[in-house]
Amino acid sequence: MRPNLPTLGAPPKRNPFGPVVAVSVILGAAAGGVWWWKQRMAQATQEVTAEAQAPAPDAGTPTPQQATAAAPGATTPPATPENPVKAAGLEHASMRINGPLETAFVQAAGSDVGPALSQVVTRTLVWWVRVPGEVLRGDTLDVIYQRRDGEEPLVYAVRFVSAKTGQTHRAYRFQPEGEANARYYLPTGEELELRLEHSPIDTYEQVTSLLRDGRGHKGVDFRAPVGTPVKAPFAGVIKRKNWNWGSNGNSLELVESGGKARRALFLHLSELPKSLQAGARFNVGQVLAHSGNTGHSFAPHLHYQLMTQDDRVLDPFDQHKTYRGALKATQKSAFEQEVRRLDGLLGTPVAGK
Ligand SMILES: [Zn+2]
Repeated sequence: MRPNLPTLGAPPKRNPFGPVVAVSVILGAAAGGVWWWKQRMAQATQEVTAEAQAPAPDAGTPTPQQATAAAPGATTPPATPENPVKAAGLEHASMRINGPLETAFVQAAGSDVGPALSQVVTRTLVWWVRVPGEVLRGDTLDVIYQRRDGEEPLVYAVRFVSAKTGQTHRAYRFQPEGEANARYYLPTGEELELRLEHSPIDTYEQVTSLLRDGRGHKGVDFRAPVGTPVKAPFAGVIKRKNWNWGSNGNSLELVESGGKARRALFLHLSELPKSLQAGARFNVGQVLAHSGNTGHSFAPHLHYQLMTQDDRVLDPFDQHKTYRGALKATQKSAFEQEVRRLDGLLGTPVAGK
């Protein structure tokens, strides 16, 4: 069973991830047999490594996870009579990487939610490291999340500690007052995700697939409601429309005028007007179309793909200038309050920024 899909929609005809997921699930099942033993080993090593990796002053305090995961016969009593994560209606997955990321999630969260949780958390990890290449043995990952029926789990906080660099990365889900969407923010109040200058889409919930997320997907997926304006990322001419409809749905290809003559592909759009035909010219920033959920698409989103004339795939996050949005000053105190709450659930205090 695959509770979730690696991307929201993609032009490749066959999904190369099915076998990988299947193998991972089998590995997860096999790992289940030695789960109890590993828990004990993890318990034994956690205390030794906690001091080495965590600069936090009270790193010796057991996290809720450690408290609940205590092996039979362990002498450490729980820190609090009631698990605060559970009381908040949430769950805490705590893991040390020792192989494939998904296997770690299956071990920490179970085979039902583990694979989907791994995919959702990957959308935050990709802004810090290459996945899976830079998620390495010895790294630790803590996730506060909520299971949802028939939907991917909702992730509230992610803390990733790289054993190699010693850096701690954190992201928090927060919906600022007056904003349509909750987004992920860094402890500084800046957005986790970079934004593109001359972006083809301004209003979206999340980037759900990047070129560097290891899925072999050729574009960037922006999750956005149907009908969100899609704009020309450069001045250009429409080359084709609605090709390979079963896969791409309503689609446009825009060829850059002059310069590098890059090709921008926009897939899964809302219905396009008949008047829009090959040869139509657009200026940068001009609305071309509206996002949709057509063709091989599992949720409303825009697939944006950049290519050279000779079919080489380009990364929009390299091709565009990028910047980070940030919370307004008036939104910061509510955010900081939420960071304190989630840090409490993650189990270590805020140390530095
Ligand atoms: Zn896509």
